[in-house]
Amino acid sequence: MAKRLGIMGGTFDPIHNGHLVAASEAASRYNLEKVIFVPTANSVFKHNKIVATQEHRYLMCVVATAANPSFIVSRADIDRGGTTYTIDTLQDIKKEYPEYELFFITGADAVRDIESWNEYEKLFSLAKFVAVTRPGYSIDKKLTEKYGVDQLQVPAMAISSTDCRERAKSNKPIWYLVPDGVVQYINKHQVY
Ligand code: ATP
Ligand code: MG
Repeated sequence: MAKRLGIMGGTFDPIHNGHLVAASEAASRYNLEKVIFVPTANSVFKHNKIVATQEHRYLMCVVATAANPSFIVSRADIDRGGTTYTIDTLQDIKKEYPEYELFFITGADAVRDIESWNEYEKLFSLAKFVAVTRPGYSIDKKLTEKYGVDQLQVPAMAISSTDCRERAKSNKPIWYLVPDGVVQYINKHQVY
């Protein structure tokens, strides 16, 4: 059986425990050897809304995943630069890991507008798409029927980066919403 690799794309502004639980659950369910977190460069869906720099977002991912031997972070999107499209992410990762079967992990909110993603029909031949549950969003069954998107129930984590940024900015706690090292990184560098 081919080795399996999970990919989790996001702005990770900042990375939080919802992302990590989603990755961990997908790794366990699909027997993924590794999960690669790929922080975006620019995003069409977040025009001018990304707050932290690429390097801060990348390093927060590194800090958050440091203790887990099967979680790694890729600079593919950041180094390619410009606007990040998942089609390019998947093609770059496939080049780097040709012998792996790819699983793209996404949340229920993000997957909803997958038909507006660049070259979306090609995405499904490059990777199996896994949509994890997220409080407040439902997963459209149409995506399963039309594109074979799997749905994966994960423990509900009502955490968003938007809320973490607002908390950090107004000096409210973000402990236990993000890994300890990420709390400390945000404070040390005054990221928000
Ligand atoms: P923002 O509020 O800035 O949009 P976010 O919390 O949605 O941040 P993203 O970087 O946008 O985080 O998300 C990356 C991926 O992780 C997306 O596929 C998103 O759906 C998924 N995701 C984010 N938070 C959760 C969560 N709490 N539970 C499940 N999936 C999540
Ligand atoms: Mg989001």
